[in-house]
Amino acid sequence: MAKIEMKNPIAELDGDEMTRVLWAVIKEKLLEPFVDLKTEYYDLGLKSRDDSDDKITYAAAEAIKRLHVGVKCATITSNEARVKEYNLKQLTRSPNGIIREELDGTVFRAPIFVNNIQCCVTSWKKPIVLGRHAYGDVYKNCEIKVPGAGKAELVFTAEDGTEIRKTIQMMKGPGILQGIHNMDKSIESFARCCFNYALDQKISVWLGTKDTISKTYDGNFKTIFQKIFDEEFKAKFDAAGIEYFYTLIDDCVARIMKHEGGILWACKNYDGDVMSDMIASACGSLAMMTSVLVSPDGNFEYEASHGTVQKHYYRYLKGEKTSTNPVATIFAWTGALAKRGELDGTPELVDFAKKLEKATLDVIEEGTMTGDLARLANPPAKQVLDSWAFIDAIAAKLK
Ligand code: NAP
Ligand code: MG
Repeated sequence: MAKIEMKNPIAELDGDEMTRVLWAVIKEKLLEPFVDLKTEYYDLGLKSRDDSDDKITYAAAEAIKRLHVGVKCATITSNEARVKEYNLKQLTRSPNGIIREELDGTVFRAPIFVNNIQCCVTSWKKPIVLGRHAYGDVYKNCEIKVPGAGKAELVFTAEDGTEIRKTIQMMKGPGILQGIHNMDKSIESFARCCFNYALDQKISVWLGTKDTISKTYDGNFKTIFQKIFDEEFKAKFDAAGIEYFYTLIDDCVARIMKHEGGILWACKNYDGDVMSDMIASACGSLAMMTSVLVSPDGNFEYEASHGTVQKHYYRYLKGEKTSTNPVATIFAWTGALAKRGELDGTPELVDFAKKLEKATLDVIEEGTMTGDLARLANPPAKQVLDSWAFIDAIAAKLK
């Protein structure tokens, strides 16, 4: 069988632990036999990032901008324990944080539905797509652990030297401080990314923030979204029969639980982090969710939204063939290949990606799955496989 050609490469960002192990198996069994895979490889494994003082991560982000499409394996965000475990020089920054900042985009996450896994939230009939702002807030914070009493101030010094100064708190004793920021330009592109995505999918957009408490900060998100909607999108939304709806974040959460789904939920960075795991988990598993970072100038990075599945990796190192679910990582690859095919005008590549997705879901719907899904399947799973055998089953179906 002739392999499917790729006109241009995609940026391939390898990662850590269990997902790195599965990454290689997915390439070997599901991609390389069918596609003449062209990638620019960047090793974003923790040691490689540490050795290069994160230069490799910035180079990978550059490659995504140049090639317009990237696919990323889950990576460890280092902490003190990891510094010891991997004998690192330093606490490296979150690679996802770096890439999101470089691409200044919005992360869209949608659960993957299969008919034998029922969503815990019975009212959700259609996927809730989550649009996560991928810039700023606590992900680019500045923190101080205050040793004792004193005055905490917020100061802005303009380029011409003028100052804006406000007292945060007269601290009566030890405590903590945090400074966060966001940029109008980034919030504007977040709004446009969400409205464009919703128009493309013909789904309504919801935004929730806490503007009653955070009148200036969260209020700015509300104001910018409304302005961009009114000026650029209202007429198109009316024509498509969809709407933009703003409410407080707590009201939004309450309403979402009773809604039928089929909407795009635009979330600030931290809300998106928390709520996407809630949606994925309610829909079955963290591994049953797609995730793509879309930048305003048309660059796409596909990834799994879960982490490196550390606990499974330690069991794998002891010789166990773990039943780790590879679906989100497979869908990261299919997303990237389909986008490459779309941009290059190579429909065979798009078609292959769709077939691989269908083969994956067909295998699960026929009752063959990994342990995380077997716990929830109804009718019960016929076969619970380890990751390797599960990937083999998909390869057999694909052939
Ligand atoms: P995790 O890798 O998401 O795994 C947490 C738990 O969720 C696992 O122990 C497992 O539960 C379940 N799970 C997640 N993915 C699964 C899969 N594909 N198949 C089956 N079960 C799955 O989070 P973590 O273990 O807390 O974090 C490990 C590392 O990942 C951390 O160093 C963190 O920095 C990093 N991380 C990276 C990203 C990213 O690169 N996008 C995102 C989040 C975290 P059971 O143990 O019950 O089976
Ligand atoms: Mg998270």
